[in-house]
Amino acid sequence: MLHFSCDFCGKDLLPGGAARFVVKMEAFAAADPAELTDADTDPDAVEEMARLLRAQEEAGDDPNPTLAHKKLRFDLCSGCYEKFLADPLGREKVEFDFSEN
Ligand SMILES: [Zn+2]
Repeated sequence: MLHFSCDFCGKDLLPGGAARFVVKMEAFAAADPAELTDADTDPDAVEEMARLLRAQEEAGDDPNPTLAHKKLRFDLCSGCYEKFLADPLGREKVEFDFSEN
């Protein structure tokens, strides 16, 4: 049986129980068009770039994994979903109690 729990607070989200909300996010480095040079728009260069990118994706060794293209998916309970919508970037984590040294 599929079991879901809230990715934020850990509450069980049982089928027929608490409502479950799904948040999907996609994060990736934006290419800045201003940085394109004539060489970048040369069809051969674009094709070569695409080939390199495909090769890199297939090899799976991103030189900077922390900046890799990421697709994220979260299952949230209604309460956390509401909090997420109110503050999607978590800029106001006031409810967290960070322990002070
Ligand atoms: Zn929750």
